[in-house]
Amino acid sequence: MAKERVLDLRRPVTVWRSQDLQDGRTAQSLTMILRTVGCRWNRCTMCGFAGEGAPASALDLIAQFECAMQRSSSDVSVVKIYTSGSFLDSAEMPIMARDEILKRLAALGIKKLVIETRPEYVTPQTIEICLARLPTEFAIGLETASDLIRENAIKKGFSFQDFADAAEAVHRQGGRVKAYLLLKPPLLTEGQAMRDAIASARAARSHADIISLNLCNVQRNTMVERMWERGEYRPPWLWSALEVLKSVPGPIVCDPVGAGTRRGPHNCGECDDSVADAIRTHALSQDVAPLQSLDCPCKSTWTELMELEEQSFGNIV
Ligand code: SF4
Ligand SMILES: [Zn+2]
Repeated sequence: MAKERVLDLRRPVTVWRSQDLQDGRTAQSLTMILRTVGCRWNRCTMCGFAGEGAPASALDLIAQFECAMQRSSSDVSVVKIYTSGSFLDSAEMPIMARDEILKRLAALGIKKLVIETRPEYVTPQTIEICLARLPTEFAIGLETASDLIRENAIKKGFSFQDFADAAEAVHRQGGRVKAYLLLKPPLLTEGQAMRDAIASARAARSHADIISLNLCNVQRNTMVERMWERGEYRPPWLWSALEVLKSVPGPIVCDPVGAGTRRGPHNCGECDDSVADAIRTHALSQDVAPLQSLDCPCKSTWTELMELEEQSFGNIV
C-alpha cells in the first residue's frame, strides 16, 4: 500500500527571508506560505496549488504563523503572508485566525503586510479589518488585462472590471494594490504572450501601485502540465521577460522562479543564470540600463522563433 504523506498542520509550507522593493526603497522582508484548505476557485489552468491544501484549523494557522515568525528579526519591516489562495476568504483563513495574525503583526510593529486575494473577497469590511491594524498591500492575480485570455486561456473567473473595482475600493480606504501579471498563459505564442504582458502592464498601471510579473512555471497536475508533456507548451523565454521589464514604466518587479529549468522560464541553458540575476537585480533597483546590454547567441533563436510563430499563427494579440 502506498504510504500516505503526513503533513504537520502546525508548520507553514515554507518561510524565507529576502529583500524587497517597498515604496521605492529596499526593505527586509519575511515571506511565509501557510497551509490552508486551499483556493476555493481552484480552476486556473496553470495553478498547482490544489495539491497543497489540507484541513488546517484556525489554531493550526495561528501556530503556522507563529512558527514562521520565528525566522523574523528586528530589521524585518515587511511580512508577506501567502496561502495558495485568498487570505481574505474566511472559508480559507478563518476569521479568528486572520484577526489574531493581524493583531500580532501590529503588536510586533511590522510596517507593512502583503496578502494575496481574489477580488471577490475584497470588501470595505475586509479592507478595513486589515488597514485598522497595519498598512496592507492587497495583491491580486489579474494575470492579464485581456478578459478573453483571462477567461479562456487561464479560466480565472473574474473580469478586468472586477479587478479595477477591488483596486478602487482598496485605494479609497488607503491601502495599496499589487497586480500580478502572468507571462505566457497557455495557448498563446511567445510573441502574443509578450505583447499581452506589455499591454496588460500598461492597462493595470493606473489601478495598481506596483506590478509583479510572474513567469509561468509548469506546475504539477495542471492543464499547462498536460500540454507541456505533449509538447504543446513551452514556458516563457527569459528574453521575453526582459522585453516586458524594459518596455513598461516601473515600478514593476519580477522574481524569475525556476529560471533555467525545463519547467520554468528559460533561454538556452548558457545564459539563464546571468539573465535571471539581472532580472532579480532590476526588481530592487528598477534600473533598466543593465538589462539592455545582455546578449547571447540564443537571442536570435528567440527572435526567429517569434517570427516563425507569427507566420503560422498570426498576430491576434
Ligand atoms: S491562481 Fe489563484 S485563483 Fe487561480 S486557482 Fe490558483 S490560487 Fe486560485
Ligand atoms: Zn542563451
